[in-house]
Amino acid sequence: MITTVAVAGSTGSIGTQTLDVVRAEPDRFRVTALAAWSSLDLLAAQAQEVRPEVVVLADPDADPARVAELAGRLPAGTELRTGPAALAEIGTGTDVCVNAVVGFAGLEVTLATLAAGRRLALANKESLIAGGPVVQAALARPGAGHIVPVDSEHCAVHQCLRANASGEASRVARIVLTASGGPFRGRSRADLADVTVADALAHPTWSMGPKITVDSSTLMNKGLEVIEAHELFGVPYDRIEVVVHPQSIVHSMVELTDGATIAQLSQPDMRGPIGYALAWPDRLTTPFGRLDWAATNRLDFEAPDHVAFPCLGLAYEAGRAGATAPAALNAANEVAVAAFLEGRLAWSAIPDVLKAVLDGHDLGVADGIEAIVEADGRARDAARRVIAQGLLERTAR
Ligand code: NAD
Ligand code: MG
Repeated sequence: MITTVAVAGSTGSIGTQTLDVVRAEPDRFRVTALAAWSSLDLLAAQAQEVRPEVVVLADPDADPARVAELAGRLPAGTELRTGPAALAEIGTGTDVCVNAVVGFAGLEVTLATLAAGRRLALANKESLIAGGPVVQAALARPGAGHIVPVDSEHCAVHQCLRANASGEASRVARIVLTASGGPFRGRSRADLADVTVADALAHPTWSMGPKITVDSSTLMNKGLEVIEAHELFGVPYDRIEVVVHPQSIVHSMVELTDGATIAQLSQPDMRGPIGYALAWPDRLTTPFGRLDWAATNRLDFEAPDHVAFPCLGLAYEAGRAGATAPAALNAANEVAVAAFLEGRLAWSAIPDVLKAVLDGHDLGVADGIEAIVEADGRARDAARRVIAQGLLERTAR
């Protein structure tokens, strides 16, 4: 049986690797829908290759001349749709929807896919972090779809949890998420005052899109993943821990109440987790890299440095506060990372922006998508104000 696949965010790091997995097992998977925001040349080339039923250009303000050009480059039989509503719908008619959009923009894809009863292969952690309560409500509706995580740590935990055959959540003593530590591991706060965009983008073990790469450098990515783990597996924050593991071979662990720790190990290659989510509950027959035990002579583990990387603690704080706090944290982080990438904010000021926004955020009840979107917008405005103020202070000095 062929599994049909929609890829939201097909031109990005996870999106292009999803097509790699499909190429490796073409008798098993067929891509029938593609969506992206930009990179129209790549989108057209992907469409020529996979001949999907639909291609979505998510940007509602895309230059009409470019849209017409894209339409002209699609294969016969492929329909072009544009705008956010078309993006949201992309995975409502396929067996699996890979949500590989970056940022809060992925929320509607998550919700529509689950509402349609489909499997959501979730890379877009931001939608689950910001929209946690709303996504939980969507998952609880009769006929809802389900999530198989693509984020490598959560994919690992999903696999390790199979060892808890009773399915009793109370038998999970703790989840231990591993972190590579990013490019600045081992450096002190003082030592990190002047890091550049190029420094932050030089990740030691993973090659990813710019937003998540910056998040990895601040450990915000791990903070977001702590909230993601809480939402996916229903484990309280006191029982979710982070350990730095520079080799990125152990992708995460689950400790059960009898003291047994189950770990998932593989090469750091996102095609593994993507393939897991596509093939689930079966397995791919293609290994994207295998471990060579003679070459893997050590696996190191160390505690994270909360002083040099305050974002991790801020994420625990927002997660424990619940309601709209994770949405506010996520929004402030998206604004701060964009400002850093554009050279308008120092790397070391990213946690300051997040802290200021969280401290000033009035916790709203996250009882619907409107409340989440409102909290997200409010936090974005607050973050922009904090950043602008910071700039004024700096020029005044
Ligand atoms: P990326 O920047 O490489 O790609 C993002 C994709 O989303 C592109 O196709 C882009 O066109 C599209 N996009 C951007 N803005 C959009 C919008 N407003 N609406 C619709 N589409 C939009 O990002 P990535 O590294 O592939 O990451 C995608 C998601 O996967 C993120 O949530 C990230 O945290 C998560 N993730 C990535 C990795 C990785 O290895 N890259 C690992 C784990 C999790
Ligand atoms: Mg991850």
